[in-house]
Amino acid sequence: MRLVLLGPPGAGKGTLAGLLKDQLGLAHISTGDILREEMKNNTPLGREAKQYIENGELVPDEVVTKLIDHKMTGGGMAGDGYMLDGFPRTEQQAQDLDRILEKLKKPIEHAIYLDSSLPVIIQRLTGRRICRNCSALYHIQNKPPKKPGVCDTCGGEVYQRSDDNEETIKTRMDVYMANTKPIISYYEAQGKLQKLDADKDAKDLQEILMKTIAR
Ligand code: AMP
Repeated sequence: MRLVLLGPPGAGKGTLAGLLKDQLGLAHISTGDILREEMKNNTPLGREAKQYIENGELVPDEVVTKLIDHKMTGGGMAGDGYMLDGFPRTEQQAQDLDRILEKLKKPIEHAIYLDSSLPVIIQRLTGRRICRNCSALYHIQNKPPKKPGVCDTCGGEVYQRSDDNEETIKTRMDVYMANTKPIISYYEAQGKLQKLDADKDAKDLQEILMKTIAR
């Protein structure tokens, strides 16, 4: 299955992708996770991305598209099915992605739009915590790690992303509305869009999604 997960920050794309990865064994490709890994390793790409990420702005299209091309074409990630999470974020990225996938003969089958309301988004993002080592997701109220600050899965450090503060969240929402929301109609025009109510719990959403794409 070849999916792209769309929706605002905090809609639950990463959480849903984690559940689907376990259920379907699909490759989970998150540009945010890849960029944070580059930042952690202090690579030239990580250093370039840092300023954009910390300000809640988008990393330039050509940088992220090259990264995805490298994963899909060079790294063979398109192989047995994939879930793209956080890419594309602009219409330019969506068009470039289609070109890359067309060459590989692995086009997107479903674009899943996770529609979520602002109060839910804010509650999710301000309480979100993440493992620095394996990117497992937690929430201080909804899903705290068993031992505070320690990942249940790998024992890595659980921390708060520097862009998950109220001010940067506001910028990220503005950026989303201006650049990313318009690409929903791009996929609608291709007949690939499925809209889901993402205020729901991730497990319920997973069940609804599985039924929707089985139709
Ligand atoms: P995420 O983990 O998906 O919330 O992404 C975190 C940050 O990484 C975003 O706020 C952007 O600064 C950057 N980023 C991730 N994916 C992209 C993308 N497709 N295009 C541009 N910037 C991105």
